Amino acid sequence: MSDCLFCKIIAGEIPCEKIYEDADVFAFHDIDAKAPYHFLVIPKKHIATLNDAHDATLLGKLILTASKIAKQLGFAQDGYRVAMNCNERGGQTVYHIHLHCLGGRDLNWPPG
Ligand code: AMP
Ligand code: ZN
Repeated sequence: MSDCLFCKIIAGEIPCEKIYEDADVFAFHDIDAKAPYHFLVIPKKHIATLNDAHDATLLGKLILTASKIAKQLGFAQDGYRVAMNCNERGGQTVYHIHLHCLGGRDLNWPPG
């Protein structure tokens, strides 16, 4: 989608701190980290919100990619959180689905 921030990041039109990429998913550090580790995992295919997502395999891959990266970065054993915000009340600001992965500190619940 041409006017989507995350599609532009995938296309290399906007720079990011890339962590991982394969045929289906792309992962990069969040520009406004809310924890010592905070990265996003997104599908390469543009899907606006979780309400528009129907591919269980792809959604599962987002989560497994997050855990794989958390292990590689060394904070998986201590623990971490994955979350996907949906629409306005969920706090979604970028309308290309993304899984947040946060770690490296104690995370309070529920988040502010
Ligand atoms: P959400 O509020 O769930 O839609 O999350 C959007 C996330 O994208 C926020 O945590 C932002 O800090 C992050 N973000 C926005 N622009 C960029 C960017 N150019 N590079 C990396 N992360 C970004
Ligand atoms: Zn997009």
